[in-house]
Amino acid sequence: MLEFAKSFGERMKRRELLKTFLFGGLFDLVGREAEASKHPIILRVRYSSTEERTRIVLDCTSTVLRRSIREKVKGKIVWLDFHGVGAVRRIKKQLKSPLVKEVEVLPITSRRTKVKLVLREPHRFRIFGLKSCGRRPFRIVIDVFPEFITTECEIRRAPQRVVVIDPGHGGKDPGAVWPVRSRHPKIEEKWITLSIGLKVRKYLKRNPDIKVVMTRTRDVYVPLLKRAEIAAKSCADAFVSIHADSMPRYPQWSGVTVFKASPRLFAKAEHTAKAVAKGIRLCNDVMCWSISPLLINLATTVTFAESSKLAEAIVRSLKAHVNDDLINGIKDMQRNILVLKTPGRPAVLIESGFITNPLDRERLVKDWYQEEIARGIAQGIERYIQSLNTVAMVEE
Ligand SMILES: [Zn+2]
Repeated sequence: MLEFAKSFGERMKRRELLKTFLFGGLFDLVGREAEASKHPIILRVRYSSTEERTRIVLDCTSTVLRRSIREKVKGKIVWLDFHGVGAVRRIKKQLKSPLVKEVEVLPITSRRTKVKLVLREPHRFRIFGLKSCGRRPFRIVIDVFPEFITTECEIRRAPQRVVVIDPGHGGKDPGAVWPVRSRHPKIEEKWITLSIGLKVRKYLKRNPDIKVVMTRTRDVYVPLLKRAEIAAKSCADAFVSIHADSMPRYPQWSGVTVFKASPRLFAKAEHTAKAVAKGIRLCNDVMCWSISPLLINLATTVTFAESSKLAEAIVRSLKAHVNDDLINGIKDMQRNILVLKTPGRPAVLIESGFITNPLDRERLVKDWYQEEIARGIAQGIERYIQSLNTVAMVEE
């Protein structure tokens, strides 16, 4: 018995020696320390997903240091190499996320694990740890964001300015219809907005200083995020969304209304964002925009003033082109109407009339009326763009 214990001890010693020989003394020392404190193990993969962020969470048995994670990006594939970290088993998860297709945890050895993320497009990501707290274990969080949010716009020199025209609705989303709630409506908002939008483009195209980008030119459904992405990617100097209202309870309401982002709406979001110290998303039927405590002051203040200027220029010009009485002026977007903006880009929403008002309804489908409104909108945009160029020159 004693003999056996002895030889077992010998064997262990020899093994240790071999290890030291193979891996070098220092490595072995560090390795033994890690063993003493028990190295962390990845237990589980969870995720949550919104249009703007997909969060992948790896639950771990103990703290993982950021420096033990190495990352390698190859196109749409992100490899995370965890040194000194194990995994309970191989885990493969298909994600229902617009940003990430699949996550795979691959144990390489008991203390080395690779995590593979397959993204749908090359996106931006961020990795950080969350301390264990209450019953929650230590977590490694990988946030993946759509690339367009980071788009940095170079300061474009006059005269090339970009205007994004956004005809509301389209495809499976008809917008407001007449008769209200009819299954086979005679009038659908999506056609009015497209027709006016294309006419605005026609007028703006005559101006060589302006490049026009449309969010749609056909009867197709374009999701909100896509519209926001188009505005952000094109580094729009102005974003103009075109709609037509419906107010079945107030058939007497009529005329054109220009909406701009409301400082009150922003103030509320700002308050909430600060209170919970994380990003807040506001959406309307046109777009969504994110407000994060860090970005609040930077992005929103300037855009308010600029959105107001854009709205004023359009209203002034509409009054000149369409019967003055028909122009309701500028309103702040409130809750359910709403707007929004991609940070830093002045945006307005134009309700070109009420489908529920008999006179507006008759006019809105007529070519001459759409031309008048389009010309009014286009000239307002041109004036606003001109004012930008003036400022740019003064700055130089
Ligand atoms: Zn609409």
